[in-house]
Amino acid sequence: MSRPTAPRPPVPRRPPPAADAALQALPVHALRGVGPALAERLTRLGIASVQDLLFTLPRQYEDRTRVTPFGALQPGMTALAEGEVKLADISGAGASGRRRALLVRLRDNTGGLTLRFYHFRQSQKDSYPPGLRLRVFGEVRSGPLGPEMIHPEIERLDDDPVLATADDSHLTPVYPLVEGLTQRRLRELMARALPLLDRPDALEDRLPVAHTGGWSLADALRVVHAPPADADRRLLSAGLHPAQQRLAFEELVAHQLGLLRRRQRQLMHDAPALPAGADTLTPAFLRQLPFALTDAQQHVLAEIRQDLGRAQPMLRLVQGDVGAGKTVVAALAACPALAAGYQVAVMAPTEILAEQHRDRFASWFAPLGIGVGWIAGKLTGKARAQQLEALADGRCQLVIGTHALFQDAVRFHRLGLAIIDEQHRFGVEQRLALTRKGLESGWQPHQLIMTATPIPRTLAMGAYGDLDTSVIDSLPPGRQPIQTVVLPASRRADLIARIRHHVAGGQQVYWVCTLIEDSEQIEAQAAQTAWESLREALPELDIGLVHGQMKPADKAAVMARFSAGDMAVLVATTVIEVGVDVPNATLMVIENPERLGLSQLHQLRGRVGRGRLASYCVLLYQSPLSALGRERLQILRDSQDGFEIAERDLELRGPGEVLGTRQTGDVSFRIADLLRDQSLLPAARRLAEQLHDDAGTGEYLMTRWLARAGDYAWA
Ligand code: ADP
Ligand code: MG
Repeated sequence: MSRPTAPRPPVPRRPPPAADAALQALPVHALRGVGPALAERLTRLGIASVQDLLFTLPRQYEDRTRVTPFGALQPGMTALAEGEVKLADISGAGASGRRRALLVRLRDNTGGLTLRFYHFRQSQKDSYPPGLRLRVFGEVRSGPLGPEMIHPEIERLDDDPVLATADDSHLTPVYPLVEGLTQRRLRELMARALPLLDRPDALEDRLPVAHTGGWSLADALRVVHAPPADADRRLLSAGLHPAQQRLAFEELVAHQLGLLRRRQRQLMHDAPALPAGADTLTPAFLRQLPFALTDAQQHVLAEIRQDLGRAQPMLRLVQGDVGAGKTVVAALAACPALAAGYQVAVMAPTEILAEQHRDRFASWFAPLGIGVGWIAGKLTGKARAQQLEALADGRCQLVIGTHALFQDAVRFHRLGLAIIDEQHRFGVEQRLALTRKGLESGWQPHQLIMTATPIPRTLAMGAYGDLDTSVIDSLPPGRQPIQTVVLPASRRADLIARIRHHVAGGQQVYWVCTLIEDSEQIEAQAAQTAWESLREALPELDIGLVHGQMKPADKAAVMARFSAGDMAVLVATTVIEVGVDVPNATLMVIENPERLGLSQLHQLRGRVGRGRLASYCVLLYQSPLSALGRERLQILRDSQDGFEIAERDLELRGPGEVLGTRQTGDVSFRIADLLRDQSLLPAARRLAEQLHDDAGTGEYLMTRWLARAGDYAWA
């Protein structure tokens, strides 16, 4: 292996991988043009070796293989064009009212093109002397002087050709944004790294040949970073080129290996075996329950109890549609642990939901002599200190809370079971943080994880492959389907009359405000406005307001009045999305539903239809609605089945919407895509199970694909 001989400053590296291969051991600073500063920046981004660099994979491609004549440029197209500078000038200053800009006029023999720069230095004007030939790449807009590009990428045609933006015979890769590095810089680095793939010992191909589709790793990387002129562009843009699929498959295998390892790490520790025979609490619990469990609930509960009976930790995900009755299953899972003298922690993502769980669990368990503790952000001072003490010395056996449960100050005496509700709102690392609390007592607590809405099977395999899955696949008896109506906002007056009528019948109403921006503050304002206008329209009704910006105590007070039936209408933001259960609320209006994902809407709508009364959901959209927007709302109108809705949501909006943002953060891929590559998952899973025992290969693939800043949740 030839390496530059000049001494290099030491660059921090992660521990050496299990297997050794040339590019994995070759630090990035061995590449020409990578000095200590750049090497350090790359290392901080998780790119320490040349292999790491080559596994920074493009997400898209640009077509710069053809130069478009100026005369053929159309607004909206992204194009490569070439011409000669005629004039560079600064315009828009002073009285013209237009923003100051540096304009560079180019010409070719078919027409003209203006380059517009808003950010520029005075001296830049002189760097475009008339006659200079430029190649530019950017999006075309129509400007006052004909076609324009704003801040295009520019290449002087007399530049050093090695540094040229792109090789014109290739599609140009577009890399995921790497902090502090331009596309151009990354492309240069790749251009220097790619030839190193020619070395015989460059990369170890660890995928069994049967799974490679005939593609060596090196060939696949060459195509993906620098697609040859004859590569199928359509396939490449769609991520479906065999070279991309070869890499995506390997990445999925590596992720599955990571999930299996995470599972194995948890199973390494013992958990308290909680045999059903010793459990006296369950029969008492069931006796006082006002309803009988459904077959589906019983079935899932049996699976849970089997897990709990073993001396290894349960790792179980319970899926069930909105309203399927997951909460009571969670409470019944707690019984054997409580009966055996272990502590149980229930974590919920919002204070509203945690509080509701606390009240419900208290009503179930207090009569059985088990007190329910409470830990949330708003618990402070003496009450908090007392609560912490009761948990630490074991007096408190059952505790409900928000993520405040895994604060450092929280210590358990004998945590035997951790229940996490609405898992999609938490990240994996938060779940692990809670279970580590149990490790402090010397064992791994059992884990029961509940999702809000169903997740399509392959997606669940991709995201929750470390867990066993149970599905509560039917709803409690007597539920009537929720009638869903899609209505334009212009019909608001009719709706007000409908609300009046509804409340006169003794039932309650939710009015939900949604917003696109991820800002609780703006959302709260919208809710405030809606609240005011509803109070004006319905002065005779008691109308409450709840949003994320309110003090927890105020929120709780409003929720309590609504739950007790003392309030007719509750105007709310999406804070009520998950879990809230007020069966007498039977009409829900969702403003601007077009802004939410289908699974989220289904979840919201699940706040009604929770009792025996007929329920309604009005999707009050803002006109005009796009064709896609209409299609989405119709899916919701026509289906009540969370699995079906999740499948459609996955097709229409992708995995991020279905899994929730926190989850997506945990599952970030370099090239694979859980939606596009669904069909690869089962085989990737099987192969990962085979490779799992082959520690060398497993470690090798995980180092290659997963070892990156931010991927610590795999450890
Ligand atoms: P989710 O699965 O969405 O968390 P919940 O656990 O909040 O649903 O249950 C929804 C409602 O259904 C609650 O009011 C609960 O008391 C009720 N419920 C649960 N199981 C049954 C059952 N077997 N029969 C009748 N009602 C039930
Ligand atoms: Mg629930």
